Amino acid sequence: MAQASDEDFGVYALLEAQRRFANSKRLSDRFFGPMCIAGLLRKCLAKLTDRQVGQLVSDVVADELRVLSPEMEICEHAVRRLFRSAGGCWRDQDTSVVDDAMPPCPLCGSETTYHVGIDEPDFLLCVRADCEHKEQLGICADDEED
Ligand SMILES: [Zn+2]
Repeated sequence: MAQASDEDFGVYALLEAQRRFANSKRLSDRFFGPMCIAGLLRKCLAKLTDRQVGQLVSDVVADELRVLSPEMEICEHAVRRLFRSAGGCWRDQDTSVVDDAMPPCPLCGSETTYHVGIDEPDFLLCVRADCEHKEQLGICADDEED
């Protein structure tokens, strides 16, 4: 059987697989599963831009923290710093996309938020959890390397 490589999975798929292994009832899965996934995940994360890592920290890490906690402040500071770094550089067009009022969700009329794509192009996401409308913007991290 061929071994899977980091090219076979996206970052979110690896995160989900690692969580599943970590929560498994089998001790061997809880121990060896995350160890195997961690190596692939490390390789995938190393290929991301600062901007994409900032988005991941915001989406994955900040969600686990208490609002207004010192940990959340540090996390938000790190995200802003990653977005502003040379590798995470916001372009003028990005700033205008983020600063302008986001277009309302075409399905429910709620607010939308800008997300940097990790395994896909950047997108707008409806803030209503039960709507989940997602609009691709066609801006890829690879486009940043001008
Ligand atoms: Zn919506």
